[in-house]
Amino acid sequence: MAEPAVTGDARMVANKALIHNAWAYVKHETEYRAATEDDQRKSHRKQADEHATVAEGIANLIDDLTDVSTTAWCSGCFVRSEHRKVEGKRSGIRAHLCASCGTATLRCAAPQCDHMAIRGLGSFRIPRYCAEHRHDIPSFERATDTVEGPEDYEKLLKYDKPNLNRATKLAAAGVLAAGVAIPGGIAAAPAVGGAIGAMMGYSGAVAANVGLAFLGGGAVAAGGLGMAGGAYVVAAVGAALGGALGASITNSYVREDKSFEIEKFRDGVGTPVIVTRGFLNESSADWRAAIAFVDRRYPDAPVYKLHWGSKELAALGAPVLRGAGAKHAVGVAARVAARAGKVAAGKLNPIAPVMIAADLAKNPWHTAKVRADRTGVALAGILARTEIPSYHLVGHSLGARVMITAAETLATQQGGPRIDTVHVVGAAIGRKGDWRRLNGAVSNKVHNYFSSRDQVLRYAYTVAQGGSVAAGFAGFGTSYPNIVDHDVSDRVDGHSAYFDNVVPA
Ligand SMILES: [Zn+2]
Ligand SMILES: [Zn+2]
Repeated sequence: MAEPAVTGDARMVANKALIHNAWAYVKHETEYRAATEDDQRKSHRKQADEHATVAEGIANLIDDLTDVSTTAWCSGCFVRSEHRKVEGKRSGIRAHLCASCGTATLRCAAPQCDHMAIRGLGSFRIPRYCAEHRHDIPSFERATDTVEGPEDYEKLLKYDKPNLNRATKLAAAGVLAAGVAIPGGIAAAPAVGGAIGAMMGYSGAVAANVGLAFLGGGAVAAGGLGMAGGAYVVAAVGAALGGALGASITNSYVREDKSFEIEKFRDGVGTPVIVTRGFLNESSADWRAAIAFVDRRYPDAPVYKLHWGSKELAALGAPVLRGAGAKHAVGVAARVAARAGKVAAGKLNPIAPVMIAADLAKNPWHTAKVRADRTGVALAGILARTEIPSYHLVGHSLGARVMITAAETLATQQGGPRIDTVHVVGAAIGRKGDWRRLNGAVSNKVHNYFSSRDQVLRYAYTVAQGGSVAAGFAGFGTSYPNIVDHDVSDRVDGHSAYFDNVVPA
């Protein structure tokens, strides 16, 4: 993708928000002129106009910049930065501009709060609060604090300030209603979209839209498949994992999921093991098989259970919970596919069902997958801020997806805890992918135990994923040296039989 060459007034080119918005305007204007379909033209016109308005607004503020500045936490970029005062001789607007992200800011409306809130460009009636008082983040100051172990994660999520954001919630809801489709049951927090958008240099509603698009909301709205999870979030979080943006994302993902919990199962010595389940057995209270699996390989290690996604996993369908038979699996697959793509249940077509955004949002499989990806990102965000040097991760089915996402996300952080070994069984993740990041995410190995007798992955996964084949069914088949496939078909005759029958490498 082309990048802009920037010349001109030094104060103008120093403002990231201005540059990004001007550039985004040019891109959308070009797309608008090239587009032939009405919907596309309309969409690009609207986006181009929004970006142009923001760019103009910021440029006007820069015209009125003074030399007076204050140092404070910025709700746009979560950095403690310099905010230069704008005396609105022309615009009549009083504001500051953040030297780090270029966003228009003003002092938080909460009494005695010194943090800077995102101002927006026009006039406004609703008071503007800082990210702490909006509960976008738990704390500016503590954003990089660490805790001893994962069991203390709630300390990281504790808010320093009361939430004064009730009135402004309505404004946020307006942003979402403005055309960003959110995968069913999972409202991507506007805070996260806004934070990422702001990091990219946008402000206000544009930031939320850009950020949400980056996180996948926009891509899904455009008919994209599976954009809401893993890779995009990983890319967006990047090196910010241990910082405030990471904290904001971790916080919102954890709070979306009432069942999220990291439970310390037992003390021990050596590298701790975090184990999770997914899909078929999550609603059962029986963790014995999973723990027994861990015990065969790490009998003395401390063990943590990761609970997640009970709502989304339950929605995948009770019939499969009991029977692992192909008939049941196909039944569920048919149901999922029918809801996903208007494919007649009686006439199963294993080739990509045509998914449209609205159907996708109602598709329980898609929703559970998004939840798995977000859980992985949240887990990485928590582990990144613990004082333990390394972890082993163990996951089954969609829980395997959680652990793979967690490992890849954690690897984006400079320094901090590392993943030693990942063990995944019956992994509900497509085998075709770019596994370079996963290969580099472990200091030891990723062990993938797959079974060609896993009927759930064979039918349900393949149909729900439009013909793609699961790594838990056929192996990753990659030449990356740290990713090792183990064919356990002789011992494992169904999706629920892995933990009982596999001896980890
Ligand atoms: Zn800033
Ligand atoms: Zn405040």
